[in-house]
Amino acid sequence: MSILVFVENADGQVKKTSLEAVAYAAAISEDVIALAMGNNIDQSELEGLGKYGATKVLHADDEKLNQGIIQAYATVISKAMESTGADILVLANSSLGAPVSARVAIKTDASLVSNVVDLPDTSAGFKVKRSIYTGKAFANVELTKDKKILAIKKNAAEVKEADGSAAVEKFAADLADSEFDAKITNTDKATGEVLLPEAEIVVSGGRGLKGPENWGMIEELAKELGAATGCSKPVSDMEWRPHHEHVGQTGVKVSPQLYIAIGISGAIQHLAGVNSSKNIVVINKDPEAPFFKAADYGIVGDAFEVVPKLTEAIRAA
Ligand code: FAD
Repeated sequence: MSILVFVENADGQVKKTSLEAVAYAAAISEDVIALAMGNNIDQSELEGLGKYGATKVLHADDEKLNQGIIQAYATVISKAMESTGADILVLANSSLGAPVSARVAIKTDASLVSNVVDLPDTSAGFKVKRSIYTGKAFANVELTKDKKILAIKKNAAEVKEADGSAAVEKFAADLADSEFDAKITNTDKATGEVLLPEAEIVVSGGRGLKGPENWGMIEELAKELGAATGCSKPVSDMEWRPHHEHVGQTGVKVSPQLYIAIGISGAIQHLAGVNSSKNIVVINKDPEAPFFKAADYGIVGDAFEVVPKLTEAIRAA
């Protein structure tokens, strides 16, 4: 059973969510073909996909594919599925993967399921578990068409590095100019060094920080940890922080390895954006704050005392 995996890159580096997609596919099949696009990705990155379970890498190295042009990507993936005979496509349920997967499903007449959190059950049919209601419940979905597309939720598959490298082959996509009729002319990074949706560590602040003038300590802690900064909705509503940092049901959904919530009460709408984080640390002066129920570790204390000490301790470590 051949599985095609769409591999995304950021500035030439394969994204971790795509490594998770490769690892997911490798847990199902021994015939995993990764597909990468654009000419700005390192050859060593492509060969290195073998360490995560890819047996072959197809590289559509057209320069026009350097940017995430969704319709062109969907066409390349559909062509690659056809030429490899892969009936299953696995990709990250990312801001790029999600719209691409929908287009590929139409083009290839495939069953599509997003937010997949577990390996498929093939004992009777082909069923997968997906996360629903912003992570509060799961649904088991049966995919009935011959072609199947699985968009994997971040952190759902464990990435293990092993020895190995994959052979890289060029893939000629032969794309028409009409595939590029909606062009990205430039991109601006919305946040600082680390992008919030991709971040492995997020340091987030709430109304408990009293005002925008107190965000220096949040930024300092984030800098020490190589983290992105986030905030609760009222904080961005009051313009203490920019709106793109607002985490939650109506903001950015994050799935970092570590989410540190400082002076945030833990309202259900905030938790909806963070509940697939691997580890949650809560710093709040109120021991009854609801966030403690969702926390792996909690510190009951005044953020203005705890955070500078924590930053100092990390710096000294
Ligand atoms: P508060 O609820 O005011 O909590 C502040 C916390 O800081 C308290 O727990 C307090 O004990 C603590 N604190 C105070 N001083 C200190 C100190 N010195 N040291 C340590 N701790 C201290 N909210 C979101 O965040 N994201 C969303 O996407 C979102 N979507 C929403 C959608 C809808 C439809 C609605 C109705 C609401 C939504 N909200 C959302 C708002 C949400 O319900 C909460 O009101 C909000 O999350 C509260 O923000 P907060 O925790 O920063 O503030």
